[in-house]
Amino acid sequence: MRRFTSLLLTLLLIFSLAACAAPSGDPPSSSTEGNTAAPSEDPENPAPEPEDPAAQEPEEPAAPPEPYEISDPTEEKEGYVPWNGVVEHLFFHPVIAYPELAFDGDAQANGLDDFMVTVDEYNKILQSCYDKGYVLVDIADVWSETAGEDGQPQMVRNTLYLPEGKKPLILSYDDTNYYPYMLENGLAYKLIIGEDGKIASWGLDPKGEEVISRDLDAIPILDKFVEEHPDFSPFGAKGCLSLTGYEGILGYRTQTDTKDWDEAREANRQKEREAVKPIVEELRRTGWTFGSHTWGHIRLGTLSLETIQADTERWETEVGSLVGETTILFYPHGERPDGNDWKNTGPVFRYLQSKGFRVFASVGIESFSFIKKDICAVICDRLHPDGTTLRHSRDRYLQFYDAKDIMDVDVRPQREIDWS
Ligand SMILES: [Zn+2]
Repeated sequence: MRRFTSLLLTLLLIFSLAACAAPSGDPPSSSTEGNTAAPSEDPENPAPEPEDPAAQEPEEPAAPPEPYEISDPTEEKEGYVPWNGVVEHLFFHPVIAYPELAFDGDAQANGLDDFMVTVDEYNKILQSCYDKGYVLVDIADVWSETAGEDGQPQMVRNTLYLPEGKKPLILSYDDTNYYPYMLENGLAYKLIIGEDGKIASWGLDPKGEEVISRDLDAIPILDKFVEEHPDFSPFGAKGCLSLTGYEGILGYRTQTDTKDWDEAREANRQKEREAVKPIVEELRRTGWTFGSHTWGHIRLGTLSLETIQADTERWETEVGSLVGETTILFYPHGERPDGNDWKNTGPVFRYLQSKGFRVFASVGIESFSFIKKDICAVICDRLHPDGTTLRHSRDRYLQFYDAKDIMDVDVRPQREIDWS
């Protein structure tokens, strides 16, 4: 993880050297162009016309981004105490910015109620986890690959060194692709880099007006929360974004379509790929990591090995090429490879492991984890704060929050609640 810090320092050095060397009037670095990724022009503030460079005053170089430090929780540190207990793991989907659009009684309303939380609920969940002493750790720091006694590679659970009295928490976010169905249902459309250089969401409010905000999507909300409560993330970790590829990533349509394709579509795809790169870079710089959720959100328990191989390669080509290699796989639908991945190690599991995956994450009723003995891999389950568990699993989540304090009963559909 420390390599991000050194990368940042290197970038800052290059940046300042470039700024010193640039002739006056020139932008200090081409990378600043990536900081205005807003998807459309603002008619109120049109860009100024280019002037004669000779007549221009020397420009102030754009402020470099605030340094962001990422450190390794497995290193002993003065005042930090070892933790070998359970590492809790919560996962979210993108959050609902406008409940009036999500819960409008259409065909998707109950699904959104089941699987998502609203912005208000999410804010309260983060606050409650923080108040209860949880601190964020990155999933890739919890287990490591090492040589076992027989010389074969094996996964081990790392000891984490935490500030006294704190408990570790992994966050992951599935389907942060901003699928088209999400857009008409009150969720953000895409991530962008706002004028302040920070990750924001872009979308439309119920009146159809464009909104750029850091308060309407799970990712910038967590960024802001950590800015306001730096002790929530003592190592700089945020969450792991679990990406499919079939509708692009992070709101950018970077996918191919094998049935219907032409040059114009490919040109647009390449434009989208370029546009998402600075977003990925800024997310990585500020503690976010990436995992695979398969390209097509496919069922790993029932599809053929050939189909799974083709899907995995497509994810590598279309998504991995943008976000980098990953060792983390999040099962779509929570469906386990070969039907049961902790009793057997079947051909699908072996194939996925051979492609570099080491942490295989499903969904369950506790933050269970199991290091496999016959292959270098760990399986883990995640808890899922969403409408289903807010309504029906209050007790199981009390260590994080009380559903009674969290759930927006008034804005959600009038469906059964077990604790009322
Ligand atoms: Zn999913």
